[in-house]
Amino acid sequence: MWITTKEEPINYDKVHRCRYCDDIGSYNIVYTYQVLTLFFIPVWRWNKTYFAETTCCNKQFILDKTVGDMLRNGEDVEIVDSDLSEIY
Ligand SMILES: [Zn+2]
Repeated sequence: MWITTKEEPINYDKVHRCRYCDDIGSYNIVYTYQVLTLFFIPVWRWNKTYFAETTCCNKQFILDKTVGDMLRNGEDVEIVDSDLSEIY
């Protein structure tokens, strides 16, 4: 039995004017989770979190799970400020 932390990049190519540095940027999004593996088969995933980082000034946020799930499913959603929680 192994417990590992996985990271998957999520494609996101929409641009916005950044309210922190006033530049035009996008977000790098990473989906992380911990997975319990039994005989090389993942049996349980938990601690699912989406992180977003601005490409312009590298400010980091936690992205709303619902929005993250939609992006991971390839849905056409745009990230707005209220979807992001700052990491202190
Ligand atoms: Zn910025």
